[in-house]
Amino acid sequence: MADCDLCGVAIPTVVPVQVYKPKFALSYPHGMWQGLCEGCLKAAMKAREEQVRSSSCGVAGKCDLCGGIERLHPVTISRPSFSKGADEDTVHLCKRCLDSIKEASKQWESERSESEHEHH
Ligand SMILES: [Zn+2]
Ligand SMILES: [Zn+2]
Repeated sequence: MADCDLCGVAIPTVVPVQVYKPKFALSYPHGMWQGLCEGCLKAAMKAREEQVRSSSCGVAGKCDLCGGIERLHPVTISRPSFSKGADEDTVHLCKRCLDSIKEASKQWESERSESEHEHH
C-alpha cells in the first residue's frame, strides 16, 4: 500500500510524480518522486485548466507539494475522513507542480493504455 502525498488516502498504487523541491535542490536537482492518487491527479489537472483559462497568476504562499514559496493555485481534493467517508479540502499548488502532475498523468495514461493492449 502507498499513501497519496496530497490527500493521504492509502491505495495499492499511486501515480509517480516528479516534483522539484527547492529545499532539496542540492541533493535532488531533478526533483523527488511523490505519489498521488488518481483523484488528486484529476483535481490538479482541473485546477491547471482553470488557471490557464482564467490566466490567474495565483496568490503567493507555500506550495503543499514541493514546499516552495511560489504563486499558488487552489486545487479542490477529497480527503478521506473517518467520520464522513470523504471530506472536501483545498490544497494550494504552484504552477511548476501542476505542470509536473500533468506530465505524470500523461505518462500514466499512456502506460495504462499500453498494458490494456497487452491483454487483448
Ligand atoms: Zn490523493
Ligand atoms: Zn509546488
